[in-house]
Amino acid sequence: MIDPERFVTERLRDIDASGIRRVFDLAANLESPVNLSIGQPDFPVPEPIKRAAAEAIDEDKNGYTVTQGIPPLRDKIDARLRAELPVWDEAGFATLVTSGVSGGLLLALLTCAEPGDEVLIPDPYFVMYRHLVALTGATPVMVDTYPDFELTAERVAAKLTDRSKVLLFNAPANPTGAVASDAACRQLVELADARDLLLISDEIYDVFTYDGVERPAGSGVRRCPSPAAYSADVLLLRGFSKTYAMTGWRLGYAAGPAPLIDQMTKLQQYSFVCAPSMVQRAGVAALDVDMSEQVARFRRRRDRVIERLGDRYEIAEPGGAFYAFPKVPEQLGETATDFVKRAIDRELLLIPGSVFSERDTHFRLSYACDEQTLETGLAILRELAEP
Ligand code: PMP
Repeated sequence: MIDPERFVTERLRDIDASGIRRVFDLAANLESPVNLSIGQPDFPVPEPIKRAAAEAIDEDKNGYTVTQGIPPLRDKIDARLRAELPVWDEAGFATLVTSGVSGGLLLALLTCAEPGDEVLIPDPYFVMYRHLVALTGATPVMVDTYPDFELTAERVAAKLTDRSKVLLFNAPANPTGAVASDAACRQLVELADARDLLLISDEIYDVFTYDGVERPAGSGVRRCPSPAAYSADVLLLRGFSKTYAMTGWRLGYAAGPAPLIDQMTKLQQYSFVCAPSMVQRAGVAALDVDMSEQVARFRRRRDRVIERLGDRYEIAEPGGAFYAFPKVPEQLGETATDFVKRAIDRELLLIPGSVFSERDTHFRLSYACDEQTLETGLAILRELAEP
């Protein structure tokens, strides 16, 4: 028997993946749980995307692609960014197709963070952030954003030291659904500029933005405020997983300053090699698919969550993604972990805030599920709020 003490690095031993697993262990015995814990859309991958992937396989397009991604996909991504970002700079920008946003995050952090550096992470945060930062040897520094979950320049500034190097930004956010304001984005860019920080903007939920201006007008698609609209120095990460419900297909992209993208490309060449080839071809088709109907449905579910829970729970109204992050009512006098255990006793699956945060006071519910499941879950939640 090998000795894990000898062969497993401290780097990995320090990572605790038990939080979410505990929820699933508790739920394992349930026959048909009311599952509000899922982080992927319930709609199917649209037909034209499926067809493009199947055609690529049938046409034997199964080999490695160039590391940076197939030209038709990169061209289409570039055209979209050029139309969307006023600061787009043809000379200074580059694009890299990645194996999901997770792939992009790993490449970005390995490129920019190392021991001695501090990486600022808004709390609550997407679980991966903390651990990926730790893998690089840099120190994660949490920026508390309770109770409104706004990452303001002021909150970040209070945590800066002379070791601060990278600021991770995520909106619409997992687990809170928070969308940043344009003013907040601009102020964060100004702060990053003044204090020489790299801003990494994870916009995997960008199409799931429910309020604000439609762009193009009448399209049903709302513009997602982004720091990348104000500075060509932002490293932007976007994906296909959530937008087109293709989480298992592994496709995303990174766009930003060419010297950083070049290093990320080098690292991808020696690690992931390329994003899956048939999926890249499907990605070209995906960028032409109109998702406004699916997004409108999610928006109605967001409204329904607020309608049903607003009078019983303190909830910062989520402007995007497909999550809400209500607070466990104080009069219940219990932690979020205990509250979630009680929910699981009622066959309702949620994720306690402690999985995403230093605090254990809130819980994440996902409304990426069918309407009947959502209604049943919300009814149970109304009851659970009663002391
Ligand atoms: N960022 C955030 C905020 C996420 O919620 C997720 C998926 N849960 C990812 C990145 C990773 O997505 P993927 O690797 O599937 O593109």
